[in-house]
Amino acid sequence: MSEQKQEMRDYVLPFQVGEHAIRGQVVCLDRVAETILSRHQFPDPLSMLVGEAAALVSMLGAALKFDGRFILQAQGDGPVSMIVADYATTNRAVRATAKISNGKEDKIAKAKGPEFLHLLGKGHLCMSIDRGPDFDLYQGITDLRGATLSEAAIRYFTQSEQIPTMIKLAVGKLSLPGQEAMRWRAGGILVQFIPAEGGARDRGEAELQREEDKEAWARAEAFVATVAADELLDPSLSSEDLLYRLFHEDGVRVFDKTPIGFECTCSREKIAGVLDRYSDHDLKDMVEDGHIAVTCDFCREEYKFPVKS
Ligand SMILES: [Zn+2]
Repeated sequence: MSEQKQEMRDYVLPFQVGEHAIRGQVVCLDRVAETILSRHQFPDPLSMLVGEAAALVSMLGAALKFDGRFILQAQGDGPVSMIVADYATTNRAVRATAKISNGKEDKIAKAKGPEFLHLLGKGHLCMSIDRGPDFDLYQGITDLRGATLSEAAIRYFTQSEQIPTMIKLAVGKLSLPGQEAMRWRAGGILVQFIPAEGGARDRGEAELQREEDKEAWARAEAFVATVAADELLDPSLSSEDLLYRLFHEDGVRVFDKTPIGFECTCSREKIAGVLDRYSDHDLKDMVEDGHIAVTCDFCREEYKFPVKS
């Protein structure tokens, strides 16, 4: 078991700072980031943004205490028209994708990095929790603001949900010891002030009245704000060591890691079901070389359906 733990390269590590209501997660996506991003082959700045979205939903999704899917969706009128990432608790799997506006590939490639607002333009950011058909869909929507995805998410939580939040995300290509090829890697850290466990999350701001809480939160927020990209991506710095580095003064307690995988929910049957909804005329237009080929937006898996002529 301990050997298995050491080998875990894709995970979310939950933690609590001191005795305070400050909780958080550290995420590390190694094989998962490489799988998602190498399949899409987006220009690098967009790959980084999609990797950040995958890291963020992994932290938020892994913290859910019930079966469900955490979905982040950003839509805009910029060179990138959409980014979607989701995390399913049932198989602890994340997936992520993006849509590029027609002909805007070059503009994206020239971006300096994962410039969220610059790449998406005007639009909105939506966070949803889907617990299946027996529950109402929980959905929060806000305008796209914030130069980076972490800034946009911090703004969403502090303003729409009244939960004091600090987030740092990082995505980069690096070669691990003993490997020559450059591989994608994504990491992140999130802290929130969440008072009563299982209680109303929206009381965060209101409960942040006690002087002691205020000070502890201000420290946690400031410490997380200092986390550099290389601290989140460096495979030789363990998440536990990073947390100790940040919070040793207040004391930090870590909980069991959640292993994260990559898995797509697409299937031949589902795609066939979608094709069934098209008219014969539209289907005819899709035929090429005697079959209809459909590629899943999330995992780039290609499904081919032969057509009888
Ligand atoms: Zn798929």
